[in-house]
Amino acid sequence: MKEEERIRSNDCLGVTEICSCLRKSYFDRKCKKQYTDASLIHITMGKGLHLMFEEVFERMGCETEVSIRFPLRVNDEEVLISGRADAVGDNYIIELKSCSKDLEEPYSSHVMQLNAYLYMFKVKKGYLIYINKSNGRIHVFEISFSPELWREFVERAKKLYLALKNNTVPGTEWNGLCMTCPYKSKCFKDKRQKDNSNAPITSFFNN
Ligand code: SF4
Repeated sequence: MKEEERIRSNDCLGVTEICSCLRKSYFDRKCKKQYTDASLIHITMGKGLHLMFEEVFERMGCETEVSIRFPLRVNDEEVLISGRADAVGDNYIIELKSCSKDLEEPYSSHVMQLNAYLYMFKVKKGYLIYINKSNGRIHVFEISFSPELWREFVERAKKLYLALKNNTVPGTEWNGLCMTCPYKSKCFKDKRQKDNSNAPITSFFNN
């Protein structure tokens, strides 16, 4: 199988997919990926932000947009974890994010994502840099590698892999991004009709 085909296949999972709501990641794979206006604006702004900072990171001596593949065993099968770190320095990794309010602590999904990169790149320390889109303030959080968080990441990867393989919809993971999620109406409907998280994808969408 060619590299590009492998990345799109269900035995190659993205780091971001694993750290996001697994239900959303599942739907993104099983249906034609959907975008809301809000998510498209978010993606476009994110790309602009990365372009702006790429030069800064390179002047700091970092390599930018560094791809990595990491093999993981799930039962007897090999699953490939695929990721791309924003900037990799001599002994640190930087992930750049945007936010819409000042933050006192980083988002847990971003910490898990950076922690996964620390493991995959064999680096002990990383930085999450947030740019507040509403006032331009920059927040920097230093993150040290956590073995517990890496184990949690691996469990989530296995869960997503098996859900995709067995066509079982993962349960909801209510979070701050639900209101801009393209699948929110399905989740809210499902919530109203009681939890139906193990239903096959076909019956879920035929409701
Ligand atoms: S609405 Fe929330 S729980 Fe439902 S798929 Fe989207 S992010 Fe996940």
